[in-house]
Amino acid sequence: MTKAKLTGRIVTPEDPDYEQARINNNLSVPKFPKIIVFCQDINDVTNALRWVREHHMPFRVRSGRHSYENFSLVNGGLIIDVSEMNKITVNRQDMTAKIEAGANLGKVYHELWKYGMTIPAGTESSVGVVGLTLGGGIGMLSRWFGLTCDNLLEIEMVKASGHMDAELIKANKNHNSDLFWACCGGGGGNFGVVTSLTFKLRPISKVSVFAITWGWEDFEAAFNAWQKWAPNTDERLTSEIELKSKEANQIIAQGEFVGSAPKLKELLQPLINTGSPTKIWVKEVPYIEAVRFFDEPSGNQPALRKRSGSFLYKPFPEKAIRTMKHFLANAPNENAGIWHQSLGGAVSRISPNETAFFYRDAMIAQEYLAVWNDPAEERLNIRWIEELRRALSPYTTGDYVNWPDRLIKDWPTAYYGENFQRLRAVKTAYDPFNLFKFPQSIPPFIRWF
Ligand SMILES: Cc1cc2nc3c(=O)[nH]c(=O)nc-3n(C[C@H](O)[C@H](O)[C@H](O)COP(=O)(O)OP(=O)(O)OC[C@H]3O[C@@H](n4cnc5c(N)ncnc54)[C@H](O)[C@@H]3O)c2cc1C
Repeated sequence: MTKAKLTGRIVTPEDPDYEQARINNNLSVPKFPKIIVFCQDINDVTNALRWVREHHMPFRVRSGRHSYENFSLVNGGLIIDVSEMNKITVNRQDMTAKIEAGANLGKVYHELWKYGMTIPAGTESSVGVVGLTLGGGIGMLSRWFGLTCDNLLEIEMVKASGHMDAELIKANKNHNSDLFWACCGGGGGNFGVVTSLTFKLRPISKVSVFAITWGWEDFEAAFNAWQKWAPNTDERLTSEIELKSKEANQIIAQGEFVGSAPKLKELLQPLINTGSPTKIWVKEVPYIEAVRFFDEPSGNQPALRKRSGSFLYKPFPEKAIRTMKHFLANAPNENAGIWHQSLGGAVSRISPNETAFFYRDAMIAQEYLAVWNDPAEERLNIRWIEELRRALSPYTTGDYVNWPDRLIKDWPTAYYGENFQRLRAVKTAYDPFNLFKFPQSIPPFIRWF
């Protein structure tokens, strides 16, 4: 075999655009790779994988740059970045789209909207469709259309093969079905470099959106009303509630309904009748406007952050709600918050072992967020998240693999529950030498060659 050569757009620390090429969405876990290869096609990906194998160089795979713990970066290694491979090909007849793995959600939504179609996925436009889908993918259409991975039909992936080689393979329900199962919730970066994802598409035109805001004095009442209502209401309605710090003085519930505004208003009565909302807003809009509404500019901007999360299987008792209130009254700064999204509906019609996404029966996904400006405040913010997660742990289960937290010690159970051993078996079959590894990657079973 001839020696591997790196191809594509290559950026190294000597290049003026290195800094821009290096940073991810989270600036608080900085990493300094030696080489970043912006692949332009599958050939560049294959060459990069062969090259790192020949040079025994650590490497990571990257697309949308949103890994909370920057697992898509590595010090002194090579980054296989697919973000410049982002073509989307729609097949109207089959109602499918083949999406190259570098596309971000903004591009996906806007491109599919031209055809009156969509896939259910996340809210921030700069998040990579690939990282999101491989971990599951929750968003404002989850209860109606399922997780993003529930709409996935096929992936193409460059995997390591032989002693020093790399090869392109496909996985779907009939072919390499064990790998396909693992790619629906097993998380990014574990098995190979995904180069494209084919989805079944959902027709969409108008939807209705809402926002209801309360002040701090309605904290307990608003959350309690939302948690009892949101996972059980009409499946066409998916919603979120963000509990902001006491300083910010805002509890905000928002959601998207695949139906009319008058019907949505009717469904919202349990929330509208709770406490004294300071704002109630309901509107029917073209779907693409709803996409823009939920796309918060601050989430797309790189910042110093720490995030973590968990799932709720039953409503929080009063004590747990008071615990959240206590933490938000003593938050490190105004921007700290606790965010929730309702699950159930189509998400829970698939069993926990049918895909690698284990938390099918959870009713709510809960996320803890901290953002700060001064690097000196890092420890304070990270401690706040860690203590909050621990204080709520008697009432919560696991964590979503797309919200990784390096401080979770038993992360295999937290991310994968009972699916972990099967994921290890898939890892052993497709990456037995454990080339695709990072601090919380799935380990293969040890094999003697
Ligand atoms: C601001 C913000 C908003 C978010 N909103 C949502 C949301 O609404 N819903 C939701 O479900 N999640 C959400 N997330 C979480 C998001 O799904 C994960 O962070 C996801 O892993 C991001 O993927 P990426 O491609 O952008 O990130 P990257 O950092 O590029 O990659 C993430 C992981 O996937 C791996 N990976 C990247 N490309 C490939 C590839 N081609 N092949 C194989 N592995 C690959 C990486 O190695 C890494 O482990 C959000 C995250 C942030 C920071």
